[in-house]
Amino acid sequence: FVIEKPENEPILTYREGSSEKKEVKERLQELKKEVLEIPVIVNGEEIQTGNMGKRTSPEDHTLLLAEYHKAGSEEIEKAIEASMEAKKEWAHMPWEERAAIFLKAADLVAGPYRATINAATMLGQGKNIHQAEIDAACELIDFLRFNAYFMAEIMKDQPYSPDNTWNRMEYRPLDGFIFAVTPFNFTAIAGNLPTAPAMAGNTVIWKPASSAVYSAYFFMKILEEAGLPKGVINFLPGSGSEIGGKILPHRDLAGVHFTGSTKTFRYMWETVGKNISGYRNYPRIVGETGGKDFVVVHPSADTRPIATALVRGAFEYQGQKCSAASRAYIPKSLWPEIKEEFIGLTRELKVGSTQDFRNFVNPVIDKPAFEKITSYIDYAKESEEGKVLYGGTYDDSKGYFVDPTIIETTNPRFKTMVEEIFGPVITIFVYEDDQYDEILRECDEATDYGLTGSIFAKDREAVIKAQRVLQQAAGNFYINDKPTGSIVNQQPFGGARASGTNDKAGSKLNMQRWLSARAIKETY
Ligand code: GLU
Repeated sequence: FVIEKPENEPILTYREGSSEKKEVKERLQELKKEVLEIPVIVNGEEIQTGNMGKRTSPEDHTLLLAEYHKAGSEEIEKAIEASMEAKKEWAHMPWEERAAIFLKAADLVAGPYRATINAATMLGQGKNIHQAEIDAACELIDFLRFNAYFMAEIMKDQPYSPDNTWNRMEYRPLDGFIFAVTPFNFTAIAGNLPTAPAMAGNTVIWKPASSAVYSAYFFMKILEEAGLPKGVINFLPGSGSEIGGKILPHRDLAGVHFTGSTKTFRYMWETVGKNISGYRNYPRIVGETGGKDFVVVHPSADTRPIATALVRGAFEYQGQKCSAASRAYIPKSLWPEIKEEFIGLTRELKVGSTQDFRNFVNPVIDKPAFEKITSYIDYAKESEEGKVLYGGTYDDSKGYFVDPTIIETTNPRFKTMVEEIFGPVITIFVYEDDQYDEILRECDEATDYGLTGSIFAKDREAVIKAQRVLQQAAGNFYINDKPTGSIVNQQPFGGARASGTNDKAGSKLNMQRWLSARAIKETY
């Protein structure tokens, strides 16, 4: 059984008249007809706790998608026991046999369940079909296939053996269970966080985001269909603080795989820190958190791609990507041209439900997000230092819709320029052309984040300077392109500083975090 290097999953286009479009439309209609009941799944057993949560579509307050059972302390304890028990077999299975299960799951997503997982992501998380396709289909498939390949690569990495000895590295899983806590904004990330450690031989307790529990459940069922043994991944919807509060201090916690807010991640570190003497191991904490991702334009830049990069970087999926372009520094000489084109293109964006495939901007995820985003917009409207150039309007009468919003500020430390908003809002600061060096330093110092960023320049020296000054300001750095849309095995994803531990999702570096090597020397 040889694991060949995979190709990235091709992105389907959903053109008018295509079979994929027809299929996803049908699936959307079917899903809308029934309210799904989502259980807790522990040791392969579906548990109805009766303590219910509801998930309504963010684009339609009247569309109830699912009622889910929340895990309580009994299920949490059972999940810990089940994962420790399942580990006994799973950790000793040949790794290729484990990988085969996830490769099968990838094929199930690519084929029979593509329309389902896309439709669930559209309805539950408010993604248009193209955003769903690159995430819930392609990136999820890529994570599953490439992680198997990264495992194969790691296994090949063996030490030197002189005469009469056989030195080898045994890549063991970690000693305990893994806690995977997943975000709403990418179905692919929700799928990757539990499966990457599991591929390495670990067992996992998976707490999905309540706002994405709908698509997460479909993926969990796909894993079961692919043959995942019971107890390897235990699915626990419910309250993050309740579940985290019980799991994080547990003696057998071996690792945390997290994507979400900086605040929650810091709480996790604090909890683990406080309990550090109580663990069998030092838990490995891997997390990707917030961002305040930048675009810096140099006066030498070719202006043609910039407006499109700003539109796509800032407004795709309503700016709800950790990588979204949310602050831009543009030289005075280029601003009139870029501004006109940027506003012009933004005006063409259609805002509305995911059910009309022409809509580019869809709802934001929920009421707290809507309130947070609109409070930033209102702040900018009322401030003398901010001016709303486009958008600034919103409407939650039917769903949580916020129009794409462009703010210009005269203060590089303006609130919307430095705080993460996680919505379709970008702030522009226009700088004097001869202040490029100063603006690079400002860009580096303005926030604590370090996730993604872009530089647009034709002048090579300007690019080199940006790379040097902004060395730690972005874990994913784009030259003449938007700062979003990383692809597995092409741009391993993650940032440092307040943005996370930079363990590069979609790379060998991430897989290595789920392994604890034993060096064996045998003499003969
Ligand atoms: N990998 C995604 C991108 O490059 C962002 C991931 C995230 O939002 O966490 O756009």
